[in-house]
Formats: sequence, structure tokens, C-alpha cells
Amino acid sequence: MTYGVSQETAKRPKNIIFMVGDGMGLGQITASMYAQRNKTVFDRFPVTGLMTTQSSNHLITDSGAGATAFSCGCKTFNGAIGVNAKKHPCPTLLETADSLGMATGIVVTCSITHATPASFYAHVPERASMEEIAVWLVQNRIDFLIGGGGKYFNKRTKDKRNLVQEMEKTGYQVSTNRYDSIPKIPGTERPFFWITSEEEPPSVLKGRTFLPEMTQKGISFIQKRDNSRGFFMVVEGSQIDWAGHSNDKLTLIAEMADFEKAIANALDFAKKDGETLVVVTADHETGGMSILQGSNLDSLDLKFTSKGHTASMIPVFAYGPGADFFNGIYDNTDIFYKIKKAMGWN
Ligand code: MG
Ligand code: ZN
Repeated sequence: MTYGVSQETAKRPKNIIFMVGDGMGLGQITASMYAQRNKTVFDRFPVTGLMTTQSSNHLITDSGAGATAFSCGCKTFNGAIGVNAKKHPCPTLLETADSLGMATGIVVTCSITHATPASFYAHVPERASMEEIAVWLVQNRIDFLIGGGGKYFNKRTKDKRNLVQEMEKTGYQVSTNRYDSIPKIPGTERPFFWITSEEEPPSVLKGRTFLPEMTQKGISFIQKRDNSRGFFMVVEGSQIDWAGHSNDKLTLIAEMADFEKAIANALDFAKKDGETLVVVTADHETGGMSILQGSNLDSLDLKFTSKGHTASMIPVFAYGPGADFFNGIYDNTDIFYKIKKAMGWN
């Protein structure tokens, strides 16, 4: 008996929440679990996989090539944002979702123009071109945006444009509340952009708390904004990577706990909703971190072997309809194809 909907279609997710812990390898996940006395949000995922992360020109990827691999499905060179190895723009998952009438959102704890989020909406060959990346947000009209980097919008050095005003003119509701003063989320009739800071938002230990709450509020905002075609939401725990670069174990544990709370909120929504695929992964590991002998649950001896990224395989966690596609060992570019397959996009 079919009721007009095939079994295949019935199993498809309507919404996607794609979450990136920048620099989050298995060591970071394990250390966070021990720091929470053997508790981890990752045990709520029924499906896990592992992926390789090398870029087109280096065994060890950067965040631009790493995010472009899963947002566009192509290998590219380190530093690239939404362009392939020949520097040609490649369509991203978020752009595809938008073109299909889905609502879109990005919530990050770095500048909104930083490599990971930028790889979902911008197409530039050099990740440092932050002012150029910001312009892509004016034309893309993403429904819900949260992150820092205000200066790339209204204190531009290369042109005199004020992108905040331009975005307000096209209908955006913009808040410039400081990162520690979470704004009231406005009505959903117009898109919303909270610029949390002029520069990068601070770490959790220095007073940033918005990620878990804004993950939850962002989901509810974009769900209300267009409930018929579903939504595509990107959430990044951006500063796990920075803690790895600075070999700072206390910051690392705090950033992991913050990202895990955001994941828990996404899973709580997905569980109630029943039509949402949640995928959590990382672009690469940072710091070559390990947990040394002599560690116990009260005191972890974490050591770093690097100030940079490493090439170890990266875990992938999936929950909800379509999760089964993420089982096994594959390449970071396969994430793109797996999401397309799960969604039934051609
Ligand atoms: Mg990042
Ligand atoms: Zn990094």
C-alpha cells in the first residue's frame, strides 16, 4: 500500500543541521568526554563514520579547503573558499538548499566571514579576503546569521560601502549587541543578522556563551521562516581549532563543552521533529593532541605535538533520516554527495 509517497521519499529528511567542530579530532572528543566524567553527547548518535581530509595540494588541509570539500564536494587547494582547484566557483550545499526554497542559517563563534562559514556562501580563491567574502552575504540573503567580524561590513578599508546599511535596505534585521548581550530574536518575516563583535568573538573562558542558545533559537527561527520546504543550518564550534593552535587545554575543554551543548540542542530538536538529519564532523584535527599516561578523570594530562593541523582521519556522526549514508570510511568530499543523496537532490 503506498499512499502516494514511496518508501524512499518517506525516509528523506526535510531539514539538515550540519555542525562543524573546527579542529575537533578524536583526541578532543575523548578529552571532552573524560572532562565531563565519561559523559559525551556523541553517544546519542546511532551512526558514526571516519573521513580522510587531505586537500588538493597538501596532505594536511586548512579550514578553507576542508570546508569547501564538504560544502561543494570538490578537492581544492589550502586557502580556497568555495572554489575548485582551478579557482572556479563551485555551488555549495547551502546555495542548493536556498535555490530549492529551503530556509538557511549560519551560526558560528568566529567572524561570519571566516573560512568555515564562508565556504558555504562565498567563492574566493583566498580566505584572507574577508571584505570580499562579506559582500557575498549581501547578495545571498541567508535567513539567520550569527557571528563576529563586524568591521568587514562597516569599517571597510578597500571601499567605502557600509554593508550593514545595505543589508538593512534589503530587509535584514541587524543587531550589533555585544557578544555577551544576547539580543531578543525578532519576528521571522524578515531575515536576521546578529553581528556579535567587530573582531572575532572571545573564547568561552573570556565570556562568550551564545552558541548553544543561538543554535536552538536559530533552528526555531528558520523553521518558522519557511516551514514548507525545510531548512539547512550550519553551526560551527569555531574556536576548538584556535585552542589547538595555542595548545591551550583549558580553553579546548571549554570550547568542546560549549559545542557539545549546541549539539545537544540540535539533537533535542531533531528528536522531536523526526524529519531532521543532523551531521556533526570537523574539517581536520588541530594540535596533534593526546591524553597521556597518568591522566585520570580529575586531572587530564593533555599534550600537543603541533601548533598546526594534523592529517588524522576525522569522525563523522549522523542522526535522523538519511543517517545511514554516513556509515563507514570515506573522503571529506563524500559528505557533499551523501547529503545530496539523503535529500534526494540530483
Ligand atoms: Mg573554522
Ligand atoms: Zn586551524
